[in-house]
Amino acid sequence: MKKYLVALVLLQACSNLSQDTENNKINVGEKKTFIIDGVSASNQFDGARLNNFVKLNESNFQATISPENIPVNASAWFAFQIWSERERTIGLSLKYTHHKHRYQPKLSTDGRQWLPYDGPVLLNSDSTVATISVELSDQPLWVSAQEVISSQTTYDWLDQHIESKRFLVKEMAGKTVSGKSVVVVSSENETTKESTVFIARQHPPEVPGGSIAFRAFFEEVTSNSDLASNFRKNFNLYVFPLLNPDGADLGNWRHNANGADLNRDWIDFTQPETQAARNFITKKIEEEGKSIAFGIDFHTSYNGPYLLILDSANEEASKTRIIPNWLKSIDVDSLEMGDYRRRDQKLPYCYNWFFNQLESEAVTYEERDEEDRAAIKLRARLYANKWMEAMLASL
Ligand SMILES: [Zn+2]
Repeated sequence: MKKYLVALVLLQACSNLSQDTENNKINVGEKKTFIIDGVSASNQFDGARLNNFVKLNESNFQATISPENIPVNASAWFAFQIWSERERTIGLSLKYTHHKHRYQPKLSTDGRQWLPYDGPVLLNSDSTVATISVELSDQPLWVSAQEVISSQTTYDWLDQHIESKRFLVKEMAGKTVSGKSVVVVSSENETTKESTVFIARQHPPEVPGGSIAFRAFFEEVTSNSDLASNFRKNFNLYVFPLLNPDGADLGNWRHNANGADLNRDWIDFTQPETQAARNFITKKIEEEGKSIAFGIDFHTSYNGPYLLILDSANEEASKTRIIPNWLKSIDVDSLEMGDYRRRDQKLPYCYNWFFNQLESEAVTYEERDEEDRAAIKLRARLYANKWMEAMLASL
């Protein structure tokens, strides 16, 4: 295992305590297409965030980006489409009303295939304005902080995946603040007691870990390999592929539609999304006799990848010792896979709830904002296989 990292100042990490937020009413913003001098910019799609659009001078335009509410973490999400009546190259500035530029812009011409912007990003002195150069045509160019993965995109992927996997069952665990479904997918054997839970994308901008790594991990665990088949014979799997669909579709920087940080709500359970997950899981335990052996919560931070584990070493308290065995087996230096970090056990995070209330082992799985996407998938598949081996070894 790589050297244990302590006392790191995670200024922009997803779990940074100093940035913990309050539940303040969110500003949804106006859905519209701005048209100035033949250049159009639109936020009329799920996942968009564009609060204003102005022309600065003959060849420069500026997009204003604001969070859904404050205080909020420094996860300055932006996403909009831009096009022009005539082909032209413009300077495009992203002006943040709060916090600073964080994400390397990602570009797409179809909303599905994305590439990181590969030119220079010019920052002003306090990094509140970032300027790039884009070539415009009459076809929309998506400009976004990360790949736009809305609830619809997620459920389309899920339905396609489930189609070839008869053992997977999709259910609604509850409703979100705005009435969307909280989806849960199960692989379950009636006679199998030991169970595992995946939670993904509580934080809307955290696409690399919350969606890309999660999907690869989940696909591996639900694959046709001997290991995965054996795993599923011995463990049930309950998966929440997008716990914050409202936040993802609103283009929020952090919160759900109530302005609440879902991953700070696992003690008080004030929000319908966390309540839905808790109620589903506790029903499995109390009414169906299941036991939760392990929970994984998928996130992304500025300086991942790493696994968050609890300060009082739940792996030491547990009889099964899945975490130490898993960590030992994924210590592959060449792929930078061995880091893990400790967190306070009393915090209202999802994985703390698993340990403190369910006596499960649990981790928060953190990817990195700008990590190569192929590397994210490779790591997730390796992690998943080693995790299944560690789970089976615990029996
Ligand atoms: Zn997070």
